[in-house]
Parts: sequence; C-alpha cells; structure tokens
Amino acid sequence: MRFDELDVKPQIQKALAKMGYEALTPVQEQTLPHILAGWDLVALAETGSGKTAACAVPLVQSVDPAKRTVQALILVPTRELALQYVTEISQIAQYTDIESFAIYGGFSMAIQMGKLDHGVHILVATPGRLIDMLYNTSLRLADVRTLVLDEADEMLNQGFEQDVEFIFSCLVHKHQTLLFSATMPPEIKHLTQKYLDNPVVVELTKDHAAPTSLEHCFVWLNPHDRLNRLLELIETEKPTQAILFCNSRHGCETLFDHLKKKIESVEMIHGGQDQNKRTSLFRRFKKQQIHYMIATDIAARGLDFAHTSHVINYDFPQSAEAYTHRTGRTARMGRKGRAITFCTPRDIQRLKTVLRQNKIEPVWLGEAPDLSSPKRGKKTASKNRSRQQAGEKNKQGKRRRPREKNKPSTQ
Ligand code: AMP
Repeated sequence: MRFDELDVKPQIQKALAKMGYEALTPVQEQTLPHILAGWDLVALAETGSGKTAACAVPLVQSVDPAKRTVQALILVPTRELALQYVTEISQIAQYTDIESFAIYGGFSMAIQMGKLDHGVHILVATPGRLIDMLYNTSLRLADVRTLVLDEADEMLNQGFEQDVEFIFSCLVHKHQTLLFSATMPPEIKHLTQKYLDNPVVVELTKDHAAPTSLEHCFVWLNPHDRLNRLLELIETEKPTQAILFCNSRHGCETLFDHLKKKIESVEMIHGGQDQNKRTSLFRRFKKQQIHYMIATDIAARGLDFAHTSHVINYDFPQSAEAYTHRTGRTARMGRKGRAITFCTPRDIQRLKTVLRQNKIEPVWLGEAPDLSSPKRGKKTASKNRSRQQAGEKNKQGKRRRPREKNKPSTQ
C-alpha cells in the first residue's frame, strides 16, 4: 500500500512525499488504517519498523488545529525517544498549523509550561514529568482524544508501571488508546485488558522476534579477553557505525577509557550524563559524526540510528528482551546489520534463554561453547572469572517513584 492511497489531508501527503515516504512498511500497513478508523490498538512491532509514523500520521490527521489544547498524548520511556517522536510529528505536520512538543525531566517546568500555554496539540511526555506537571501546573488532559503508550515493555522495565497506570486512570473521558511494545509480558497484558476497549491486536513479531536482515553473531571468550577481541573485531568488521553495549555506567566508563586510547571517534552515553550532553551526542551520532557509541540500555533505547551497521554486546544483555531491544538498533528498515554478542561462561544460561526465546540460530565467530551441557559451556573457560568482571555488575537498578495518594484534576 502507498501513502498516496490513504485518505489523509493533502498537507500530510505533501509532507510524506517530501520525507521520501512512498510505500507503507508492514507495521504501518497493519496498524495505520485501524488507527485512522479510531480503534484501540495493541501492536507488537519490531523496532525500526516505522511505528512512529504509523501513529503520527493519524494523530496529525485527527487533531483540530483551531482548538489550542492537547488532543493527543504520547507516553515514552526516555527523553531521547520523546525528542525523536516530536521530530517525526513536526515533519509530518510541517504544512499544517499543528504544534507538537515534548516534555521530560531535567528541564525547567516553567519553560515547558510556557510553551504549552501557547497552544500544543500533540504532547509527547515521559511519565514522571507529565505527572509532575499535572500536579504543579495548569496542564490538563480533558481534551485528549488519543493516548499512545510507546515502548510499553521498556516503560515497565524502568519502573514506570504505577505512573503509567496513574496516567491511564486520569483519562476518564472517551478516548482512543494505542499501545506499542516489542514484547508482551503479563503486566502489559493486564494493562491492555484493563484500559483498552476491544482493541485490534497486531503481532508483527510472532514468527520472527527480530528484523530478518539482522545476523546474530556470538563470540565465546574469557572475560579478560574482551577488549582485545573487540579491537580485533573493529579491525576485521570495519563497521560503518556501531553501538557498543555495556550493562552499567561503570562498565561504559571503563570501556571508554580503554578505547579512546586505541581508536578514533568513540563516545559514550549513559543515564548519568546531563540532558544537553545526551541530546548533543545523539545528534552527532545520528549525523554520523561519531563512529562508535558506548551505551547502556536506557540511553540507547528505542532510538532510530539509520546507519548503525553493528551492535556489539560487550556485556551480555540481562534478558532476552534487552537482547531484542539492543540488537534492534541495527538492521533498521530492512537494511543489513550484524549483532555481535560477547559471551563468557557466566552468561551461558542467559545465552540459552536468548537463543530459545528469540528463535536465533547463532553464528559463532571462532570457538563455540557446548550448549548441550546442562550447566555451562567449556570448563576451561568457566574457570576464568576476572576481577574486572566482578566489578561490572549492573548498577543501573530499577526506577521507582513514590506516588502521592491524591490524583490531580486533569479536567
Ligand atoms: P521507527 O520504527 O518509527 O523508529 O522508524 C524507523 C525509520 O524508518 C525512521 O528513520 C523513519 O523516518 C523511517 N520510516 C518510517 N516509515 C517509513 C516509510 N514508510 N518509508 C521510508 N522510511 C520510513
């Protein structure tokens, strides 16, 4: 299906043509017409599949620019994702009078409220900041006709479950709800059953949990060999652009200190950096001014890096879901990509889970472990648990905010 076959405003058609969007992606084809028709929707969609535009086109189509109130609300787990969403909406709305805006923590609430007072139709928000603004400013959600929850599973992973439920429960009037998630844990099913009204369910990840253009490579090694193997891989693979994942901020910093002495154009991004720094790093990486980005899961979540040819899991991901999200940073929109995951003896159980749950046929670069053994792979490798490894435990932790008892009025 092509965008020019859709029954949407000519201004939207003009913008889509300018953006170079001609054919709908599979996710767009299966979700966009339902969203336009006003149905509630749950979509399990691959990352990088075009789900932002699948939502943004119907939102720009449905809001009334003459009414200067928030009519669509999009909840996202991170600031970067909020900025990315707003950029896509502004492009699609460039020939209309529709204003979109993002609110997130780490930035003045007064300034954000000033912008909202001037009239914002589509609001993208992280849950924590939205709730703060509902309590402390005149922001109201009475005119919201569409509520979108994006990256729902990650929202819960970050401890936003109560916040999300709270926001859902604030919208008591009739509205459309759209929920996008890469995975469907029980908590999301619960949210769907409780708050969505007879939703259309679209499962694009059912038969292949990750983009098919993605090759899943693994490297079996001792922990203290990781840096050297990484340098070798950089030499042999020659990535156009790569994201190197670590499980903790400390791990990022250690790797960054080592790598910056050996290679050029390497930066790191993690939740401990201030907002301006992170935004600038994202922009530079997106413009390909940075070749290698060392990142934690939170920092790189959901972002669209069109040119990333490689994702390297320097630390083995904490869960099968984290593996899906990390490796979804490459092979976007059908482009080819390689995920290379370092796997040490202590990761063997998680490796088995990742391979089973994500239905992956691993490509081993070099030696392969014996996965038939019930406990672990090669005994020789399992003896080597280095001090470095011991110091790289995840320090990110889960985020929980204490909730006040009284709800603010949203009307
Ligand atoms: P998303 O999954 O929404 O992050 O989108 C991934 C990338 O695909 C972004 O760079 C979008 O701008 C781009 N994109 C989305 N839909 C289309 C389309 N129909 N044609 C071409 N590019 C698209």
